Amino acid sequence: MTALILAIVLAFAAGWTIGHRTARIRIIPVGALATEDEEALLAADRARFEEIAEHLRTDAQRDSDAGSSCGVPHHLYPETLCTEPTGHYVRDRDSHAGPLIISGRECGGAAWDEPKDPE
Ligand SMILES: [Zn+2]
Repeated sequence: MTALILAIVLAFAAGWTIGHRTARIRIIPVGALATEDEEALLAADRARFEEIAEHLRTDAQRDSDAGSSCGVPHHLYPETLCTEPTGHYVRDRDSHAGPLIISGRECGGAAWDEPKDPE
């Protein structure tokens, strides 16, 4: 009986230690003085800011990569933008193409030529 109780207490202690080590809530040690608290919180905020800034940098990089696409809007559905590379368009040979978007909803795909100027 004693061995069982000891085993339960030991399992609980191990679970407690592992659970708190891998917890998603991070404990920020703060000092005894208000200024030490502020410094610790400021350092944590700065670390969080650096993390977010790094995410923004990678997002901006991805956006600039996406910016190399043609982007010409469809003449009837201006929300539909060409996703082919810049400068690809040749009439009757390489038409604009992209996901067809009508009223903010994607409705399949579209391929289109630019409308001919009336002569
Ligand atoms: Zn295009």
